[in-house]
Amino acid sequence: MVRVEMLAVGKELLIGRTLNTNAHWLGKRMARMGSMLKMIVTVDDDLKEISSSLKTALGRSPEFLLVVGGLGPTPDDMTLQGIALGLGVGMRQSGSALKLIREHYSRRGLRAMELTPARKKMARLPLGAEPVLNSAGTAPGVRIIAGQTTVYCLPGVPVEMRDIFRRAVEPEIKGKLGNLHRKYLTFKLEGVLESELAPIIARELRRHPGAYIKSHPRGIREGVSRIELDIAVVGEDSGRAGRTAFEIAREMEAAVKGAGGSVRGTRGLEE
Ligand code: AMP
Ligand code: MG
Repeated sequence: MVRVEMLAVGKELLIGRTLNTNAHWLGKRMARMGSMLKMIVTVDDDLKEISSSLKTALGRSPEFLLVVGGLGPTPDDMTLQGIALGLGVGMRQSGSALKLIREHYSRRGLRAMELTPARKKMARLPLGAEPVLNSAGTAPGVRIIAGQTTVYCLPGVPVEMRDIFRRAVEPEIKGKLGNLHRKYLTFKLEGVLESELAPIIARELRRHPGAYIKSHPRGIREGVSRIELDIAVVGEDSGRAGRTAFEIAREMEAAVKGAGGSVRGTRGLEE
């Protein structure tokens, strides 16, 4: 198992101004790869919070730590400084990061952009860090090796975060994960309570250890209980994972019917 964690940085996430959609997107993306985000921690734009949560995360030695947010030019953006503090290293102006920033402005037709302190700030990196091209915005991503862990710092702007993740982070994680396939089915049940479904799920998990089976209660309407059910199977053999997922679905469908319920809604098989 490749352990991947996320450290989201931003007061806006903690005061209800911005929904942490980056966590949602990254979680989904990781799950599709046959892995998952094992932990998501959100902290304030504060040097002590950033550095101490970095150290705590590194103490768990994840293979990857995705630090998201706080790379911009404004004074509240202090993620890289917090990371340097946590790693006990200094900061330096990175020539290659400055080059990426200049190229970004010239791509936008802003040829004569003066490199003001605010702009240069985005190129001040912790020692030992390398900048990563951000083709959707200004602030480059940052990659740092810290012991067992590859730390990626990504901008908070969702389109930029996704750009760097897709082009740089995902291929590197996939390289460590190997070729995994996830088969994911979801369907709707009616007329069974979650408490009746519990032993059915337990039996399936005994039959198929490693499968993921999750019920989502959707309330009781006109005396009929409604539940959405997810089944996911991950494996190196795509065909086999798919067959297992369908087998679980068939077995559960029979058990639900046996308990007086019914199966509704289309089943989707996601690659
Ligand atoms: P920052 O990285 O703090 O400069 O934030 C840039 C923009 O991205 C701001 O509008 C933030 O509210 C937004 N943002 C930061 N982190 C996240 C996140 N985890 N999910 C969604 N939006 C975010
Ligand atoms: Mg922020």
